[in-house]
Amino acid sequence: MNFSIVVPIYNEEDNISDLYRAIITALDATDTDYEIIMVDDGSADGSFSALKAIAAQDLRVKVIRFRRNFGQTAAMSAGFDAASGDIIIPMDGDLQNDPADIPRLIEKLHEGYDVVSGWRSDRKDTFVTRKIPSILANALISRLTGVHLHDYGCTLKAYRREVLDGINLYGEMHRFVPALASQVGAKVAEIPVNHHPRLHGTSKYGISRTLRVILDLMTVKFLLAYSTKPIQLFGKWGVYTLLAGLGSGSMTIYMKVFEHYSMNRNPLLILTAFLLFMGIQFIVLGLLGELNARTYYEAQGKPIYVVRDRVNLG
Ligand code: UDP
Ligand code: MG
Repeated sequence: MNFSIVVPIYNEEDNISDLYRAIITALDATDTDYEIIMVDDGSADGSFSALKAIAAQDLRVKVIRFRRNFGQTAAMSAGFDAASGDIIIPMDGDLQNDPADIPRLIEKLHEGYDVVSGWRSDRKDTFVTRKIPSILANALISRLTGVHLHDYGCTLKAYRREVLDGINLYGEMHRFVPALASQVGAKVAEIPVNHHPRLHGTSKYGISRTLRVILDLMTVKFLLAYSTKPIQLFGKWGVYTLLAGLGSGSMTIYMKVFEHYSMNRNPLLILTAFLLFMGIQFIVLGLLGELNARTYYEAQGKPIYVVRDRVNLG
């Protein structure tokens, strides 16, 4: 068993040497092989020089440097792609996550899980801009994805590599990996981990992250529930809207015939036109979605199912 620690780094020059020391202190105590993949996400400070200096002395430290800032999700993705370990452990590069938790994450993984998510049960961040949005977001994500975790946002997690192999990340989606993994049959667990206040450097995010997370959640929910059958979502709403349009149209005619209410003065006429138009649009969107689904799955030779075992099939 060997591990790959993956760390996204964006302007963390004052944290890098302490981080490196904390990681090797925690992992040298275990008797496993490991590598540390540091991904410099286009830092404008001395982060890359600091990383290079460490990598020059320790071959277990591998460094990738982006040409510009692509974001934390891209940085983590690059680290996952480069990782050679059987177990992959992402963590923040600002020392807010504690490498001393890594052996406990691994222990939990060995109890038979594929993903172990860290939960910053005593989170050291501001209350209004961080903890409140986080509580709401985690409740919403848990409900919509059906994977109940207290802390999707905690970067410190442990994954078996097979789980990450089939998952491609876009936008701000690194936090949704447990939900995406569970979709392909991964067993997910959660354990409380330490969290420290940020001592050096500044946070890279503000409150606007909440909106981006909600938008990504919509994407994830859609992909999880409808990526193989978009017509089931759009077609359903198309039919409802058409029925409402027909209802409202019938009402307009009824009022004209029996109540002598002129059609062109009846607001229901506009509603009817709007609903019928919307209904057709929804259905057409669903059909276009079906075409896209076929391109998506068939062009990549992606099956729409995940197999656990095969017997007598070679
Ligand atoms: N990070 C990154 N690229 C970015 C933003 C952040 O690689 O565009 C890294 C950052 O250096 C840190 C981690 O992602 O290692 C988490 O960022 P931060 O500590 O600012 O987030 P917070 O803890 O405030 O949620
Ligand atoms: Mg942080």
